[in-house]
Amino acid sequence: MSAKIYYEDDADLSALEGKTIAILGYGSQGHAHAQNLRDSGCRVVIGQRPGGANYELAKSHGFEPVDIEEAVKQADIINILLPDEVQGDLYRSKIAPHLTEGKILMFAHGFSFHFGQIEPPKGIDSMLVAPKGPGHLVRSEYKAGGGVPCLLAIGEGSSDKTRTLGLAYAKGIGGTKGGVIETTFAEETETDLFGEQVVLCGGVSELVRAGFDTLVDAGYQPEMAFFECMHELKLIVDLLYQGGLNYMRYSVSNTAEYGDYTRGPRIITEETRQEMKKILKEIQSGDFARQWILENRANAPSFKSMRRLQATHPVEEVGKKLRKLMSWIDEKEV
Ligand code: NDP
Ligand code: MG
Repeated sequence: MSAKIYYEDDADLSALEGKTIAILGYGSQGHAHAQNLRDSGCRVVIGQRPGGANYELAKSHGFEPVDIEEAVKQADIINILLPDEVQGDLYRSKIAPHLTEGKILMFAHGFSFHFGQIEPPKGIDSMLVAPKGPGHLVRSEYKAGGGVPCLLAIGEGSSDKTRTLGLAYAKGIGGTKGGVIETTFAEETETDLFGEQVVLCGGVSELVRAGFDTLVDAGYQPEMAFFECMHELKLIVDLLYQGGLNYMRYSVSNTAEYGDYTRGPRIITEETRQEMKKILKEIQSGDFARQWILENRANAPSFKSMRRLQATHPVEEVGKKLRKLMSWIDEKEV
């Protein structure tokens, strides 16, 4: 079954007329949603804690940020653009007490809602508008007259007007220019987690490390291993982005293409595919969510330790050195 996609003409910004939208958090998504909505003529209030760079950023963009409670009180639509792992606690302490009947809760990712960290009371509708790109792109595409595609989901039991409001919101941030795909909280959350664990972050990081280690262990120079197993990934990903696997395979040499067909399936084996299914089950059952939530409750000890250990892998050392020699790279360090 292919997806239902909405465009400009399917959405009407006037649905948001007279409504106040609270943007909680002025980070990656928050700064983009807030400014795009304001430029689209919507009334926006920012709920952002003081003391940090994002508070100053909101002020420099001409907003007068208030605390989360105050923003929730003022708003008809409340978009929770805070990190997923703090949403549950902040919802209970600062949002829920001020949720009077008729207000609408919004998300840009379904984690907290789908896994029960946020359970809106009766009379509070919920929806999700999730741009398929980082906030800076949501902002720059909007300014350039376009928009990043978005996902739209309506919380179970929410009234029909929620979809109209969700589409209007998506239009307000530019999403209907790129197309708005209708999904569910479950589908958005589970596919998002699966993608980042198996392919985008987990899969790619381990593939790079394992390839690098194999070459270095065999006595090749780490500089060579870095270029082959990490640096050149960008060229390949750019080709995938432009024209899929077919275009990548058309662009690389025939030798590379032959190696791809004959060796690729020996790396992603039947065993790997079985493991992907297991990971998906852990996501669907809530096991992953429970593990991550408990980890954060304990102040993330294993997360912090893994972060420390992984940061010192030799591919990072050699990469840091070589990137400095490539002046065109907009080099970033953590
Ligand atoms: P960021 O980390 O960029 O921003 C988080 C904001 O929340 C900041 O303004 C931060 O303020 C504030 N904040 C963090 N912790 C607290 C706290 N304990 N109390 C009060 N305020 C706090 O978040 P993102 O924009 O990346 O993510 C927001 C949502 O959007 C998430 O649900 C995410 O899954 C979703 N999303 C993100 C995408 C992305 O590309 N980043 C893409 C699509 C969806 P301060 O500066 O003071 O810390
Ligand atoms: Mg994702």
